[in-house]
Formats: sequence, C-alpha cells, structure tokens
Amino acid sequence: MLSRGLTSIGKVGLRIGALTNVDPEALRFGYETMVVDTPLAGSTLEIESLPVKAICRKCGLSFEAHDFICVCPNCESGDNDVTQGQELEISYLEAE
Ligand SMILES: [Zn+2]
Repeated sequence: MLSRGLTSIGKVGLRIGALTNVDPEALRFGYETMVVDTPLAGSTLEIESLPVKAICRKCGLSFEAHDFICVCPNCESGDNDVTQGQELEISYLEAE
C-alpha cells in the first residue's frame, strides 16, 4: 500500500455520511488504538461529516435532509433520490 521511501502517514482524511450511523467522535476516540502497529500509527484523523442530501424526482430540487426526513421543501414530495450521506471513505492520505 505504501510506496517505497514513504515511512509514515501524517494525516488521514475520512468522509463520513450521516446515513452510515458512524459516530465521528467515537471513531476519533478509537482511532489511536486501532492503528497501533500499523503504518498509520501516530497519524491524525481528519473527519469530514457529510449531511444527507437528496434530489426530488418531481421538481428536480436538490436539498439537504434534516433528521433523515427526505421531503422536498419545494413541492413536499417524498419521492426522491439520496445523493449524499452514504459515504464512508478515505478522502486523502498525507505522508510525513
Ligand atoms: Zn420537489
């Protein structure tokens, strides 16, 4: 995974969507323990929390869903596609 000459990772960027039910604080807290004896030991975790977003199928409006209630604020349709909120991915790794 690490290329030659790269000794350690300084920062790990994570994107976590609200729909994943991952608690960023709990993850941050457990991170140091999880990465002991891995190439990630000593690195810091930067978490970007992503709110739930959806696009209305009726009027095409893109909106942010609050409290997981996906109802279009424009036409009040509940028929929409979730476009953001399911992410659980590494956005970047920063070598030291
Ligand atoms: Zn709508």
